[in-house]
Amino acid sequence: MAIIAVKGTHDILLDEASGYAYIEKVFAAVCELFGYRDFRTPVLEYTEVFNRSTGEGSDVVRKEMYTFLDKGERSVTMRPEFTAGVARAIVEHKLYATEDLPLKAYYYGPVFRYERPQLGRYRQFHQAGVECIGVNSARFDAETIALAMEILGMLGFTGLHLKINTLGDEASRNAYREALKEYFGKHIDEMCEDCHDRLRLNPMRILDCKVEHDQEIAKNAPKMKDYLSEESEKRFYTTLSILNSLDIEYEVDDSLVRGLDYYGEVVFEVHAVSKTGKDYGALLGGGHYDGLLSALGGPEMAGVGFAFGLERIYSVMKDDGLLNDLETGIDVYVMPVGEEVLDDVFVLTTNIRNLGYSAYTPMAAGKLGSQFKKAVKRGAKYALIIGSEELEKGVAPLKNLATQEQKEIKLDNLAEELDAIFGLEEEHHHHEE
Ligand code: AMP
Repeated sequence: MAIIAVKGTHDILLDEASGYAYIEKVFAAVCELFGYRDFRTPVLEYTEVFNRSTGEGSDVVRKEMYTFLDKGERSVTMRPEFTAGVARAIVEHKLYATEDLPLKAYYYGPVFRYERPQLGRYRQFHQAGVECIGVNSARFDAETIALAMEILGMLGFTGLHLKINTLGDEASRNAYREALKEYFGKHIDEMCEDCHDRLRLNPMRILDCKVEHDQEIAKNAPKMKDYLSEESEKRFYTTLSILNSLDIEYEVDDSLVRGLDYYGEVVFEVHAVSKTGKDYGALLGGGHYDGLLSALGGPEMAGVGFAFGLERIYSVMKDDGLLNDLETGIDVYVMPVGEEVLDDVFVLTTNIRNLGYSAYTPMAAGKLGSQFKKAVKRGAKYALIIGSEELEKGVAPLKNLATQEQKEIKLDNLAEELDAIFGLEEEHHHHEE
């Protein structure tokens, strides 16, 4: 077998990795603004965690999990999503009893699903998401949606499409499921194999079957809104009216059911088609849930959350040029001229780093022409050229690689010289804005 990355996984390298890091940084910063705390749970969980929560009615649990027996013959699963593990941790550590509620947790990292790889769909992909757990409130539901939109706004997204729906409370859902069972029961012979399973396990899942003929049949299926309890309906309108007051646009889409079993009440997705016209699928999905903690041995407590797909966020941002201004290069590329200066250049480079500027030196004296080419390739902003004459005089040329302007700087006064230059540069940027 060829030594290459496993099918459906991908390496994230160099500029792409900088892009992911930037997205995660913005994501975490906005979450902190909303009072969320960093939360890190293991990739591996006992399979039970997902069976009990994500649910046997979901495609994820039924056929997409990386599940295996460990050497102690315990069934473990590489997380196919974060929510179940986060809820497991909250129950295990009784955070619902010791922390002020709602507990607001954000997280990001790899998740694993054995799906058919295609555009925007991987087997190892990366999610960034939040859970707000312990208070049952249409207002926290709305705040969570507002958080998702704020993060995307801060990343520079425009033209987002928020789809929202309500699945109602348990009584509403049970009534609706019965109605769907009856309706689809009459058509099931013409429908796909998966829908046969869905009809048995969770008929609501049929509504987002991708098979065209099944979609035709689903069009005339009973509608959730006709089975909503009064309370669920009121609750939904509370959430919508908050979104209105925040000027967040949405479309109520009553075919939106979401793939995981624990959802109830409000569910939502955000879509964006990139300027290239490519549709990478939903950027994020989320919703409210009630029975999750209790399914894992905790108390009856509600929660609400969402998860972004980082691959999809990245792809749209890349296509739309939202990552063009990322600063990835180094500040000063120190160029030694002649072997005899290498030791001094080493120390000088260290001094520049200690002043808080990123610095690089090649540790070898090459021709200046090729050093300049390498500096540009590394994305360096400035080149500092050091030969024995410069060291003797204590003065060396610093060249701006973008403008080619050159300035002599005093080496024994590096802090002030660099602060002046980089400070000026910042001011310059502000003027441009
Ligand atoms: P879900 O946990 O299924 O609600 O998915 C949340 C988000 O994760 C989706 O909106 C996608 O952005 C992303 N996502 C889900 N499955 C995949 C996949 N196989 N590959 C890449 N991204 C995915």
